[in-house]
Amino acid sequence: MNTSATKVFFKQLNRQLFMEQYKDLAHVDRAFPIGFGQTISQPSLVLYMTEILELKPNHKVLEIGTGSGYQTAFLAQFANWVYTVETIEPLKKKAEERLKALNYYNIDFILGDGTYGLKDYAPYDRIIVTAAAREIPATLIEQLSPGGRLLIPVGNKDAQDLSLISKDSEGTITVSTIKPVRFVPLVGDFEI
Ligand code: SAH
Repeated sequence: MNTSATKVFFKQLNRQLFMEQYKDLAHVDRAFPIGFGQTISQPSLVLYMTEILELKPNHKVLEIGTGSGYQTAFLAQFANWVYTVETIEPLKKKAEERLKALNYYNIDFILGDGTYGLKDYAPYDRIIVTAAAREIPATLIEQLSPGGRLLIPVGNKDAQDLSLISKDSEGTITVSTIKPVRFVPLVGDFEI
């Protein structure tokens, strides 16, 4: 993935397609409600997170928190295969329809709780969590391939940091804090 390709894609992808309400504000760089108490992320943050992942065309990616499917489109565009998990059925269904309409056929949409990742298809080259957790679930780190990266917002309701966990070829883990962010809670055992 080269960053100018991500930026071109960012400009081309119509965010309105991922929104039901506030469509006329799709160009505004902030999160908006998508129903069920959830939000579509701020576009500049979606671009930023995509770039930090350093996706490659052969990558298998796990996304926890499909939401509108907006971030999912970036993953599917720059990786080989995406598994995306969402707890709210109508959101999962809508995202699936949207991404099929955009001709993405390299995405599996899974209904369920992604707190503990998705064991069936592990390990993953990249894991991205788009909801905030109290701490980093160890199972997500376990489900990373050597050379893998996990991106997850960690903190509490008021303050979260985007954390990047890297696993090197020997399995050594490095955790770095990237920047303050604000996401909806990851529902379940690691809920903030
Ligand atoms: N990147 C998405 C953000 C969606 S908001 C977008 O731009 O649209 C986060 C999503 O995570 C919500 O849809 C919420 O329902 C989902 N979610 C929360 N906890 C979850 C869990 N434990 N497993 C799977 N999905 C979860």
